[in-house]
Amino acid sequence: RKRVLSGVQPTGRLHLGNYMGAIKNWVGLQEQYETFFCVVDLHAITVPHDPAELRSSTRTMAATYLAAGIDPKRSTVFVQSHVSAHAELQWLLNCVTPIGWLNRMIQFKDKSKKQGEEVRAGLLTYPVLMAADILLYQADLVPVGEDQKQHLELTRDIAERVNNMYGGKAWKKRGGRGGRVFKVPEVFIPPAGARVMSLQDGTSKMSKSAENDLSRINLTDDAVAISNKVKKCKTDTYDGLEFGNEDRPECNNLLTLYQLATGQSKESIAAECVNLRWGDFKPRLTEALITHLQPIQSRYKDLMSDYRYIDEVLDKGAEVANESAQNTLGACKDSMGFALKR
Ligand code: ATP
Ligand code: MG
Repeated sequence: RKRVLSGVQPTGRLHLGNYMGAIKNWVGLQEQYETFFCVVDLHAITVPHDPAELRSSTRTMAATYLAAGIDPKRSTVFVQSHVSAHAELQWLLNCVTPIGWLNRMIQFKDKSKKQGEEVRAGLLTYPVLMAADILLYQADLVPVGEDQKQHLELTRDIAERVNNMYGGKAWKKRGGRGGRVFKVPEVFIPPAGARVMSLQDGTSKMSKSAENDLSRINLTDDAVAISNKVKKCKTDTYDGLEFGNEDRPECNNLLTLYQLATGQSKESIAAECVNLRWGDFKPRLTEALITHLQPIQSRYKDLMSDYRYIDEVLDKGAEVANESAQNTLGACKDSMGFALKR
């Protein structure tokens, strides 16, 4: 079976963007693929972080995966730092990745702008760690939101570069197909929900790490919070509501959220909303979001009432992931010429 790998950083709580752009799609992929879902905690320390928060977010993130429909019987759910091969392979890949490739990354430019002198080396090499995450599992498919497309293309470039530099006969002897070290993964971006925008600014993406909590709907927000955030979200002064008007990014985003939450077609939402005013639309959106998130929230509450289950899932996941990761790491070290420990 083909393999899928994806992950989210425990840098806060999951929001609708993470859900619509990534996790919701993971759920469906479990049927067909061998799936690995990771809480990428090593990525979370590329920007300043609070140790106690990191520890608790790692567990709540895993609980949210399960609440959203990831089934540990069908998927390997694990924490990145529990599998040491991630950090180790990153070093090897750091030594083959040209700095010029990293300097071009939009996320690095965006996130480093805010930090000035305090920007850490890890923020620059973040996409190399992401490449290690994916290549360790020889993943065929990586489902992510639009914002990660550039990083995935870089992963493909790194994989090809390693294959060219170190693939070949030695690798073939180990049973690798086509003499390659790494499988070159495909990018998978969902058709709708690939880029959910901030509730406060329709031109920037919804983010866990954005300061203003009013800018996002968290999967764990209660009815009062959702209603408040929708009330305060940015709108405009045009008549009627429509998709796809470039001058109305907020309108497009809010209609898309409504479409995704109700599960209806774009056409039927467009028809329903064409003559609505914001004051008519907002309660409908609020209602749809509350209803959509309710089942996830009740499962989440159950899971968080006793940590033992979630911790067991993560222990087991780390074991399974580790075996697969060590295999690739060992083979990669071998092909690069490291004298392997007997
Ligand atoms: P941070 O602000 O800490 O970077 P984030 O909200 O960007 O957090 P990530 O952990 O970086 O979340 O990304 C997890 C997954 O969610 C990735 O697949 C990413 O593409 C997807 N994603 C993040 N934000 C959005 C969004 N606004 N719309 C759609 N998908 C998103
Ligand atoms: Mg991000």
